[in-house]
Amino acid sequence: MSLATALPAPTWITEELVQFQDSVDHFTADQVAPHYEAWEQQGMVPRALWNALGEHGFLNCDTPEEYGGLGGDYRHLAAVMERFSYDGYATIAGSMIGVHSGIVAHYILNNGSEDQKRRYLPAMARGGKFAAIAMTEPGTGSDLQNIKTTARADGNGYIINGSKTFISNGQHADFIIVVAKTDSQVSGSKGTSLLIVDTDAEGFSRGRNLDKIGLHSADTSELFFDDVRVGGDAVLGEVNNGFAVLMNELPRERLVLASGAIAAVEGALAWTIDYVAERQLFGQSLAQFQNTRFKLAEMLTEARVTRAFIDHCTDLLVAGTLDTATASMAKLKASELQGDVTDGCLQLFGGYGYMREYPIGRAFVDARIQRIYGGTSEVMKEIIARDLLGR
Ligand SMILES: Cc1cc2nc3c(=O)[nH]c(=O)nc-3n(C[C@H](O)[C@H](O)[C@H](O)COP(=O)(O)OP(=O)(O)OC[C@H]3O[C@@H](n4cnc5c(N)ncnc54)[C@H](O)[C@@H]3O)c2cc1C
Repeated sequence: MSLATALPAPTWITEELVQFQDSVDHFTADQVAPHYEAWEQQGMVPRALWNALGEHGFLNCDTPEEYGGLGGDYRHLAAVMERFSYDGYATIAGSMIGVHSGIVAHYILNNGSEDQKRRYLPAMARGGKFAAIAMTEPGTGSDLQNIKTTARADGNGYIINGSKTFISNGQHADFIIVVAKTDSQVSGSKGTSLLIVDTDAEGFSRGRNLDKIGLHSADTSELFFDDVRVGGDAVLGEVNNGFAVLMNELPRERLVLASGAIAAVEGALAWTIDYVAERQLFGQSLAQFQNTRFKLAEMLTEARVTRAFIDHCTDLLVAGTLDTATASMAKLKASELQGDVTDGCLQLFGGYGYMREYPIGRAFVDARIQRIYGGTSEVMKEIIARDLLGR
């Protein structure tokens, strides 16, 4: 069995998308590979990389042309994001393509006013404006209904107070979708709204770029809102109904994470298959030991089965029928598998796997967050069980 047979292309890949992925490969070889390690050391990528991604059509490729996108669908986004993920460039796949294009652009496209769409989407597609979404606070992550950030109505606008943490793209962001309570008298999911805050607004400040154990080139920040005034036109969707927007976007958000995860799994396996064939010990190649063969056989089988489910979810999303519980299964399975496979592959690299110069070590630490952000594995299980059994 060749590598192409062991890890076949996704079922939804077309000739056009293969060419699109080829253009990602050229871009990566030319503009990413020579610099990625330096960006990891610096703790963030340069803004020029965002501009370059925009110039090459890799940002917002699944938003309509009238808003500056390529007019593709989720498969275009997945083709680009998966390619970066397969090659081990998790910051580009996750924060730049995933959060910016895969999540924030669709919040605006699906829920924004015409003015909001025109103001943000074309600039996002060009790589001129960078986006973040801020839900998590120091006191609450999974329990999002318990957020403390407020947006108090004042005249025809709102005044925002509070703080957020762990926000991807927080240092780079030119605007942020902020989840805040607009009615503190009601509890639970009610009285919450989404507001678009431009980061040049008075009273907004960024904390430090947080020091993480992985994803080193992805900037992740605390954000502070001290009497930040925004107009009434900053509300995304309906006032006090922000949870409805959040819920509607969940299937896509979870699939974005799952698509990145399965591609990272496939990339890690491809490097490892090459490595075990080359590495010689005890007078034979590492590939000839039964343990290596069984481990790779198990991991490949898991990868193929998971890929089939994610391709199925991709078809459902494109058809507009992917539900939150099914998308949560995809996120749960793919992100757990990513953890297992990057660990299992690193073990086969021995000590070299622990060295920065081998990408498997970086893939291992970058994989760890996938089971936590975008909803933890435990929260995914809750959602799946609730869908099956009720509360
Ligand atoms: C690198 C990075 C990037 C991030 N990017 C963003 C971003 O761009 N925007 C954003 O808003 N947030 C972001 N986050 C935050 C992330 O989404 C949260 O960390 C995550 O949702 C978990 O919340 P928490 O950290 O508060 O953990 P907690 O919610 O305190 O969870 C602690 C533990 O409790 C478990 N738990 C929680 N609820 C249940 C339950 N009902 N049943 C059983 N167990 C449960 C969890 O699974 C976990 O094991 C990011 C985080 C990191 C580390």
